[in-house]
Amino acid sequence: MALLKQQLSKKRPSSAFSGSGTFSHGVHPPQRKTLVSDVPIEVVPAPEKVILPLLQHVGGPCTPLVKPKQKVAFGELIGRGEGFISAALHAPVSGVVQKMAVTTLPNGRHLQAIVIRTEGEQPDAQELWDQMFGGEWPVKTFQGLTPEQINAAILSAGIVGLGGAAFPTHVKIAPVGEKPIHTLVVNGCECEPYLSTDYRVMVEAAEVVVAGAMLAARAVGAKQTIIGIEDNKREAIDALRRLAGGAGLKVAVLKTKYPQGSEKHLIKAVLNREVPLGGLPADIGVAISNVATMTAVARAVMRDIPLTHRVISVTGGGIMEPKNLLVPMGMPIGGIIDICGGLKKNAARMIAGGPMMGFAFTDLATPVTKGTSGITVLTHEEVRRVDQSVCVRCGRCVDVCPMKLVPTKLAMASRYKDLDLIRRYSIMACFECGSCAYVCPAGLLLVQHIRTGKALLAAERNK
Ligand code: SF4
Ligand code: SF4
Repeated sequence: MALLKQQLSKKRPSSAFSGSGTFSHGVHPPQRKTLVSDVPIEVVPAPEKVILPLLQHVGGPCTPLVKPKQKVAFGELIGRGEGFISAALHAPVSGVVQKMAVTTLPNGRHLQAIVIRTEGEQPDAQELWDQMFGGEWPVKTFQGLTPEQINAAILSAGIVGLGGAAFPTHVKIAPVGEKPIHTLVVNGCECEPYLSTDYRVMVEAAEVVVAGAMLAARAVGAKQTIIGIEDNKREAIDALRRLAGGAGLKVAVLKTKYPQGSEKHLIKAVLNREVPLGGLPADIGVAISNVATMTAVARAVMRDIPLTHRVISVTGGGIMEPKNLLVPMGMPIGGIIDICGGLKKNAARMIAGGPMMGFAFTDLATPVTKGTSGITVLTHEEVRRVDQSVCVRCGRCVDVCPMKLVPTKLAMASRYKDLDLIRRYSIMACFECGSCAYVCPAGLLLVQHIRTGKALLAAERNK
């Protein structure tokens, strides 16, 4: 009887998929999503100016197509993607182009940026909402489109992964190539603590997510589509389940654990398949994309709307009024914080993204980019402060690493610039999830050391 009970308690939460609904290792940081998870998305009016870096995606930068003093219209193409892995850039406001500027992103990169001063007529909040998420999404009307036509619409809309990675979507959601795709996995996990960007999109725009997923599945030739959602997002699970069956999609309810939203761990949880070390999901016949990205795909294909806006959570104990906002790309974060009532007196750290994988920044002029999944402002109490000491060889970082790496050795090899060891310990398999640093009792900056190690390898390659 005890054994039967044990087996039942281990039973996965849904039978709609072949994985176990979770992965091994990982951590359980406090979620703190309720600060903002029940706050409906609010549309932000056009700011006075937008700052649009030419590189907001993985790959090559855009080439600007506009000059200072030139007038541009809302949605106009202003930057052409160069090379296969790149993405186009569109004006998120109507206005006049200013002198080119250099802006610094939270990851420390200095980038050329197109600046537009807002001028003339702008769509109002209701119009914007209706264009992006409102009305009907009759995907059947678009079933006659070829995969190439869907891919071309994604490419010209400048869509990149909105989960934070910002990888150009036309490369991932591409017609059958050398590696046939059998399954499209749609990522609705949003495992980063605090953030509820994807959650609100799933709750408020489930129909758009489903329409985008159906189009993406058609583009890659997938026979099945599975939307993976963690079990702490009940309302999103219900919203998508109501539509999924009729659309031929499955919803996989997964255990809440960080980093469940990582591509490799999501595939493991949903399909019980391993992506080989150094390989891609396509190597095992899987395409994967985020739920918000699916809404951008639906808009591009069905309404010919480029990627000019995105939803972000502005949250954390240091924000006066946490909100979920639909913001234009390029809006300075200072203006967004003002819309949320400003910072509290005890605000201590601003992070672009969430506390596990985000980047801390201090400059309020920093613009929102396509890869900004949220803004988290932590208070002194929320910032985990551990004085740095020496590694006590407790092995906790090894126990939690979802890639089964040895973070302490990777960090040590990076500190001592030992390239042979860095390679031998498979540094490139680390996707900087931060789980190791989160549990380290010695407060070691493991991820920062690992990033340095990767930079050393890259520098050696480029010699
Ligand atoms: S070594 Fe990399 S992948 Fe492993 S826990 Fe640390 S940050 Fe995550
Ligand atoms: S968790 Fe920190 S102290 Fe423990 S082995 Fe890893 S690096 Fe060393």
